[in-house]
Amino acid sequence: MSAPMSEQRLAEILARAEAATPGPWCADEWEIYQGTEYVPGVSAWIGETCRGTSTPEQDRADASFVAAARTDVPELAAAVQLLAAEVAGLRARITELEALTPAPIQTCRTCGTGYDYGKPCSVCEFKKRMAAALAEDPHDSPLASTLVSPWQQAVAGLNALVDADVIFHVEPDGHISAPFSDEHIEWDLQARRWVLTHDDEDESAPALVEAPHSAPPVRDLRPGADAARRMLANRDTTGGTDV
Ligand SMILES: [Zn+2]
Repeated sequence: MSAPMSEQRLAEILARAEAATPGPWCADEWEIYQGTEYVPGVSAWIGETCRGTSTPEQDRADASFVAAARTDVPELAAAVQLLAAEVAGLRARITELEALTPAPIQTCRTCGTGYDYGKPCSVCEFKKRMAAALAEDPHDSPLASTLVSPWQQAVAGLNALVDADVIFHVEPDGHISAPFSDEHIEWDLQARRWVLTHDDEDESAPALVEAPHSAPPVRDLRPGADAARRMLANRDTTGGTDV
């Protein structure tokens, strides 16, 4: 690609066009006249193309080119000026954007998840790898199970207890306990995860949600707890108006 036209060069071309007999020009055979079309006896003669060695067809083509150049050149120059202005504007915008410090956490435009600036979106990367693995072996891939929804996986987990004949129940605070077992599942506030605990570990697990009646209320930090509380509150309100 050649270098962009300099402003000076463009100015020279435009000056030449301005200095020429005003357009438009037209061609009649190898003759060039002022005006949109040749009118015998009226149109002012500009010139003619006669190379001597040319064929009449070539002379006609040359005349057509010269006549059209009278309007083509200013039109092209205007287009170049417009593009140059656009390029300058975009360059300025790039400089502006490059000067900005990007936020450390970016929002993925594909999946909407936050990711570290400069790194690929981990969710999209994961999905891509999963899709690639499944495409290779859609039925037997050990990765296939990880594509099941997290809810489905949670249900599968509870059914694992059912299948093992474990008698368990979910307590109002979310704990999953088994009356005939010392194992149960609780929400660990510090780890912010559900954990498997044993009855003899309770003493040494102060981070777990423990809400004895005499204790001050403990804020339930389980994921979604606030939303669930709000939902329950709304339901109570609307239920009351019906009575
Ligand atoms: Zn993503």
